Amino acid sequence: MISLTRRHALIATATTMFVRPVFAQATGPFTLPPLPYAAEANEPHIDAQTMTIHHDRHHAAYVSNLNAALKDHSAIAAMSLQNILAKLTEMPDAVRTAIRNNGGGHANHSMFWQVMGGNGGKPTGDLAAAITRDFGDFDKLKEAFNRAGLTQFGSGWAMVTVDRAGKLALMARPNQDTPLMEGGRVLFGNDVWEHAYYLKYQNRRADYLTAWWNVVNWNMISARYTAARAGTLEI
Ligand code: MN
Repeated sequence: MISLTRRHALIATATTMFVRPVFAQATGPFTLPPLPYAAEANEPHIDAQTMTIHHDRHHAAYVSNLNAALKDHSAIAAMSLQNILAKLTEMPDAVRTAIRNNGGGHANHSMFWQVMGGNGGKPTGDLAAAITRDFGDFDKLKEAFNRAGLTQFGSGWAMVTVDRAGKLALMARPNQDTPLMEGGRVLFGNDVWEHAYYLKYQNRRADYLTAWWNVVNWNMISARYTAARAGTLEI
């Protein structure tokens, strides 16, 4: 199940499960989406303990801290997460940094769980054609993406963005920043915070980046690509 909240899961089951995935994020109070697969689903490349701690503690903290920051800001909490992030510069000074860190963290991890749980391999169809057009070929994309992740100093993300025309671009962002903060859309991304890999890989970020491709879910990323071009990809 790819939807982000139980409410959305029910809506998806009732109306859209066999039509298209739901990539929308509810308004606040925000909730931690369940992992869409078992914690061990990405073994041996991503170990179950890392997945559990990452989801149940790190992502959960971003959600609870975001809700705490917005508890006296009901008008903001009534907005969708992607709209809150797109209007980050307009947020009140007192909560802007909390929104940036925790709203960004919530969005980034909600995307991250979705695009894993697969068997790697290669993209297909329209997405494969777009990768060839915008990066040369899939191997060149992987090489550039891994380099972006490896050279991101400290904590952050390597991401591929997609626009309404289906154009792809490689991005790196520090901390929990996201192209959603510029009104963009993330097709997929990899978390290069040490908490994402340290238990298994210690300081070997390059090994983690290489192994991560083995658990990428290209069916889901293709569905996100289709949604992006239809204007329905939100997080
Ligand atoms: Mn993380």
